[in-house]
Amino acid sequence: MMGWAVANTTPSLSKRERALVTWASVIPDVDGLGIVAEILTRNSATPITWWSDYHHVLGHNIGFALLATGVAACLARQKLKVALLVFISFHLHLVGDLVGARGPDGDQWPIPYLLPFSDASQWVWSGQWGLNGWPNLIITAGLIVLAVLLARSRGFSPLELFSRRADAVFVATVRSRWPVTADASSN
Ligand SMILES: [Zn+2]
Repeated sequence: MMGWAVANTTPSLSKRERALVTWASVIPDVDGLGIVAEILTRNSATPITWWSDYHHVLGHNIGFALLATGVAACLARQKLKVALLVFISFHLHLVGDLVGARGPDGDQWPIPYLLPFSDASQWVWSGQWGLNGWPNLIITAGLIVLAVLLARSRGFSPLELFSRRADAVFVATVRSRWPVTADASSN
């Protein structure tokens, strides 16, 4: 939802460019996919510990941010603008993890930000709240309201990332509930 808000700071982005900026706020967590292998092999003689070893390591750093930004720029038409927004969107994920992603066991998940160039820096913040803490609920609720408002005025929602049809249905529903006046509609 954070990435979606960033993607909508610039009305001129195409559908693909909005997707690039939105996915940039999710992509750091691909390093958590090892959890599948880890759960499957948990009781085996040779457990795989990719999740414990690599989550918040491989994808949560400046090197991966630059890689993601470069790939997005290649795929975008408005390269500079998209690269900048992707970079911001990616970093909002890191900041989100830093301020509000404490695990149920109190685990802080330090972020090795300067990897792969240096492992000297490990971001932690002592005020970090839990992943299910109330600030996250308020922020999420706010971002959902924003997405609904944007769907009403601009005519697309985060659902377009998954299905054009579902998006059209959602936008139509929002607009019939809260009709748009002519000048508030951009398309
Ligand atoms: Zn993360």
